[in-house]
Parts: sequence; structure tokens; C-alpha cells
Amino acid sequence: MATERTLSIIKPDGVQKNLIGEVYRRFEATGLEVVAARMMRLRQDQAEQFYAVHKERPFYADLVRYMTSGPVVVQVLEGEGAINKNRELMGATDPKKAAAGTIRADFADSIEENVVHGSDGPDTAAQEIAFFFSGAEICPRTR
Ligand code: ATP
Ligand code: MG
Repeated sequence: MATERTLSIIKPDGVQKNLIGEVYRRFEATGLEVVAARMMRLRQDQAEQFYAVHKERPFYADLVRYMTSGPVVVQVLEGEGAINKNRELMGATDPKKAAAGTIRADFADSIEENVVHGSDGPDTAAQEIAFFFSGAEICPRTR
């Protein structure tokens, strides 16, 4: 399997619950490398643009409100099959359907407030990484 990069976000509820270290521990335990990271508060226009694919969905306005409700931590993860590895760590969107031991099964309160985001494919990963980070901000390992 090829080395990939994926975009991950610890959402406002994950930061509120003090789970930054726990989520990073899971990335590292599964061999994913954090190669870029930033804490920030999303502006409304950023959240709208980031989730534009869901614009027509009934939960869009709530989703934007939730994603701007507090700080988030945004990171690029690198590793073999990083996109799927991260999706496996996260678990299903709805925590009630998420496999035991996944981040969402362990910590999420609802289908909306589900602690983490992860890119769902190579095209969205490239797009989402470029949304948050310039090339110079990505720091692959040199040792
Ligand atoms: P993400 O894109 O955040 O990684 P995902 O790919 O598992 O999550 P999507 O279908 O892309 O799920 O939905 C994006 C986000 O919108 C979800 O993570 C969740 O916060 C919210 N969401 C999705 N479905 C619903 C719903 N039915 N009701 C409320 N919020 C929802
Ligand atoms: Mg998604």
C-alpha cells in the first residue's frame, strides 16, 4: 500500500473534552505520523466552505454552528494507507454504529458531535490538506 496523507480535525467537542492527547496517541500507536498541525477557531465562512458538499443537507446550518462553536485542532497525517487507517480509528459517523474501540464509539455523543473529522478519499484528502496548510507548513520526517 502506498504512503498517503490525510486531513484530520479534532472537532470542538473533542477539544472541549480534553481529548487532544488521546486522539494523537491513537494516531501514533497505529503508526500514523503527524506532519502538520494547528489549533484554530474556524470562521463561519471557513466551516461553510469546508463542508460545502453538505450544503443541501438539513443538518448543514447546525453543522457549521457546531464546527465554529470552539477551537479545533487540524492535522495532516502521513503513513501507509493513511486515509483508511484514520477512518478506521475514527469509526462510523454515528457513534451508535461505530465499532467498539474507535474514537467515536469511545467518546462521541451524537451523529453530529462526533469528535473527529477525516478525509474520505485521495481527492478530498488533497483538497482538504490544501484548504488548511501550505506546502511549506508540511514537515515530513527526515529522521
Ligand atoms: P467527517 O466528514 O466529519 O469526517 P463523516 O465523513 O463520517 O464525517 P459525513 O457524512 O461527511 O460524515 O458528515 C459530515 C459531518 O456532518 C459528520 O461528521 C457530522 O458531524 C455531521 N453529520 C452527518 N450526518 C448528520 C446527521 N444526519 N445529522 C446531524 N449531523 C450530521
Ligand atoms: Mg465526511
